[in-house]
Amino acid sequence: MAVPSRHHSRSRVNKRRSHMALKLSNLIKCSHCGERILPHQVCPFCGYYKEKEVIDVFKGLTKKERKKKQKEIEEEK
Ligand SMILES: [Zn+2]
Repeated sequence: MAVPSRHHSRSRVNKRRSHMALKLSNLIKCSHCGERILPHQVCPFCGYYKEKEVIDVFKGLTKKERKKKQKEIEEEK
């Protein structure tokens, strides 16, 4: 089996790894609640898309969770 004749220097390793940094995904602000969301998709926080309510985000939540979420949305306004 071939064996490397010389070890990689820290500098060389770091130079290679300089391209491995993760980039932030392209997020936009929700026009209704202001949360950072993916573009061209319904806001998962308030259920709005293009100023219209598309999904009911309170469906499937308990009374306690619903109250908490309602409070969060009102705080952001
Ligand atoms: Zn929203």
